Amino acid sequence: MTPKGTQEIRIHIAHLQRTSLIDYPGEISAVVFTQGCNFRCPYCHNPELVDPSQFTPPLDQDEVLSFLSTRREKCDAVVISGGEPCIQPGLVQFMKRLKEMKYLVKLDTNGSFPDVLSEVLESDLADFIAMDVKAPISRYSHVTRCIFDPGAVARSIRIIMRSNRAFEFRTTLVRELLSPEDVLEIGREIEGAPCYVLQRFVASKHVDGRFLGASSFSDEEIADLKESLREMVGRLIVR
Ligand code: SF4
Repeated sequence: MTPKGTQEIRIHIAHLQRTSLIDYPGEISAVVFTQGCNFRCPYCHNPELVDPSQFTPPLDQDEVLSFLSTRREKCDAVVISGGEPCIQPGLVQFMKRLKEMKYLVKLDTNGSFPDVLSEVLESDLADFIAMDVKAPISRYSHVTRCIFDPGAVARSIRIIMRSNRAFEFRTTLVRELLSPEDVLEIGREIEGAPCYVLQRFVASKHVDGRFLGASSFSDEEIADLKESLREMVGRLIVR
């Protein structure tokens, strides 16, 4: 499948969900889960995609692409999720292969690789971007347990806002890490976004086992936030 004489850089795929009715808005999709992430959000419910000691042998990329090439009539879109897909050096090539198959492509990202996002958008490789906004910019390292340049997240927000693609920003509401005032601060940082998703935190398996006892915001707090965020963003969705 790779042209003779060229070496394809591969992405590490941990898992392929063959059919999903919920991961690409309004479309039937397949979901590719990539392995590895630069963040260590303690509430992450995919530790097997984040903690290298829990990695399983990756799937064969050619087999995944070959399978997807047979599914085009049954499936409209491919979602690339993780982990963090943008740490994969072969991401752009992989997305090109999906676009050659005429799939709609959605990229789920934590927004810490603005240069990759730029390349993906400028090359017309994504039709939908979903970016997690973990915290107000000033509190990023606290929530992601990772030292990095939070300015990268601000750049990603600007790049996505200026693109004319469909997109959503989303924040997981974990009381132990964020306050309602933090979420309002995020609202100010993404002001003008057409869609903002507040995700209730649900305890399951986590990167940090101590977060099994963590909690989400109350219904009353979420209702107050909806009211306050109304002026800042377009559609507000609570999941
Ligand atoms: S929740 Fe955090 S640690 Fe988990 S995959 Fe997303 S960015 Fe990485």
